[in-house]
Amino acid sequence: MEAHFLGTAGGVPSPDRSLPCSALRVNGRTVLFDCGEGSQRQLMISSLSLMSVDVLLLSHHHGDHVTGIPGMLQTMGLFSRGRGLSIMGPAGTSELIGGMMSTYGEELFYGLEVRDLEDGDSFFFEHAQVTAVATEHSAPSLGYVVREPLRPGRFLPEKAKALGVPEGPLFSRLQRGEAVEAGGRRVGPDDVMGPPRPGRSMAYSGDTAPSGRFAAAADDVDLMVHEATFPAAMAHRAEESRHSTAAQAAAIARDAGAHFLVLNHISARVEDEAAHMREAAEVIGAARVAVARDFDRMSIHHRD
Ligand SMILES: [Zn+2]
Ligand SMILES: [Zn+2]
Repeated sequence: MEAHFLGTAGGVPSPDRSLPCSALRVNGRTVLFDCGEGSQRQLMISSLSLMSVDVLLLSHHHGDHVTGIPGMLQTMGLFSRGRGLSIMGPAGTSELIGGMMSTYGEELFYGLEVRDLEDGDSFFFEHAQVTAVATEHSAPSLGYVVREPLRPGRFLPEKAKALGVPEGPLFSRLQRGEAVEAGGRRVGPDDVMGPPRPGRSMAYSGDTAPSGRFAAAADDVDLMVHEATFPAAMAHRAEESRHSTAAQAAAIARDAGAHFLVLNHISARVEDEAAHMREAAEVIGAARVAVARDFDRMSIHHRD
């Protein structure tokens, strides 16, 4: 899994930050989170291919998150895209995309599937489960949690030996998940494996005020991408507009037990990026947080 940050601004773009768009690569396929104006060009400049996008997930329908959609759909058509594209988002997404299609009069020669999601809805992208989580913004809004399935536990040779299995070919068979006969009894893989290990995982908050529901859904994720629109000095503005400060984002990541936090959706009002990061680091520790910049990418590895 690899996360790509293509547009890391909040509200308005700046020379350094494009409007919201992030991506997650899973097995060579791409799921896109939000599609602000200019996202297709950010994709082209990045190492990702526009045509590798199979799913677009919208956090909500504010302009900074959706204005890139018509252009992207049109370009995919002009590039003779063959396979279909799914767009999913909160209530009203079908209507939003339908309106865009009729306004721009585009004829697409590829399948477009559009679906409205509710809190708790989930689907599989490759082998990973993607779950929508209701968040707390000034419009119907969803965050998303992506989790690969549990992996088998580690093979424990000492346990196998204690059960009378000699080192050698029988070890290999147990590691492949087969049961074996040893010392007159059956030894199964479960007898000699440690507990299942978590698969890789990532959570994307979209725009939201601090949400306990999102923290709970993102329990123990490897990477949390959380909006941190405003600095602490503008906490009142964050509250009014249902956004988060850097420290609030960090508190959500801490509550979730997230292993790493990337601050995203950075307002042009954040003048000192280092100070913004310090505000989060005070809550979660400097080793566990970074501020997203356009074209950053981050590999998500298995923990063990
Ligand atoms: Zn926004
Ligand atoms: Zn918004």
